[in-house]
Amino acid sequence: MSVDDLAEFFATLSERRFRADQLFQAIHAQGVVRFEDVTTFPLTLRQKLSQIAVLGGMTLDSALQSTDGTVKLLMRTAQNERVESVLIPADDRMTQCISSQVGCKMGCTFCLTATMPLRRNLRPSEIVDQVYHARRYLNDSGKKITNVVYMGMGEPLDNFVGVVKSARLLMHPNGAAFGARRITVSTSGLAPRMQEFLDLLPVKLALSLNASDNRTRSAVMPVNRKYDIAEVLAVLESRPWADRQRLTIEYVMLGGVNDTELDARRLANLVRKLGITVNLIPFNPFEGAAYRRPDEDRVNQFARVLVAEHVAVTVRQSRGRDIGAACGMLDGVDGT
Ligand code: SF4
Repeated sequence: MSVDDLAEFFATLSERRFRADQLFQAIHAQGVVRFEDVTTFPLTLRQKLSQIAVLGGMTLDSALQSTDGTVKLLMRTAQNERVESVLIPADDRMTQCISSQVGCKMGCTFCLTATMPLRRNLRPSEIVDQVYHARRYLNDSGKKITNVVYMGMGEPLDNFVGVVKSARLLMHPNGAAFGARRITVSTSGLAPRMQEFLDLLPVKLALSLNASDNRTRSAVMPVNRKYDIAEVLAVLESRPWADRQRLTIEYVMLGGVNDTELDARRLANLVRKLGITVNLIPFNPFEGAAYRRPDEDRVNQFARVLVAEHVAVTVRQSRGRDIGAACGMLDGVDGT
């Protein structure tokens, strides 16, 4: 709930508006999960609220730790649906990958989540609750979440309202107060919603491109039959130069499918003029996967071609593969 929603709620109880601000701060900044612990409220109000409402939307079932320090958090909604989130430590950063839907309908053929039919969109409270559970999980370690990426289960822009509301909650100055550039939303390429999203929020957007031609992209990402490469890249190109700093292009490298030098050159021809960094993600195989991971030489050669073609490149290190927590490996079940 936003502060305004809470104010409406308190109005029905004949309580004044400042109670909404106090409760918002307690939930989103202090991580309070029980009305009894809202110390700014008088005891009578705490007792009254405990009888008529509940806080929080998710339960943390378990936390699986990888040998590389990555942690997969298995959570459960009030309807008993499994949702996954991943904590990825690196240097002075702690990035949390969060989910926006239970399942996904986009059908990307390299992604384990695609094997789960879409059950429903997560509510804004369930999305931010993943962050608040992780915050409590990290509490004793003294570590803090520095970045949030919507790259877990689901297509974030298919849950447009839920994702916009949750990002606003995470950025709220009286709440978790994440800076806009510390939040990244990833999309498979729902072109009209990309434009709307970029107009609405100042957060970062990552386009999952994953092919250098439409035939290959349609084979690995069915969404391409609706919004093809030219259409999704046109959205990025329509943004002013200064705004493109918050855009990235992700490219999952599938061995023998989209990882040749020809692919690299075609990709360079597509993105060079955009001035947007390409993030290469070597495929993380899972049981029953139709693809293989390209070897390191192939990944490096692909990156070298892009650099020679004047495209900025990063290569994402795989994290948490041993616990099924790496990119594209989330399916709502214990990955050990
Ligand atoms: S990659 Fe993202 S959009 Fe595609 S199926 Fe997986 S979760 Fe859905």
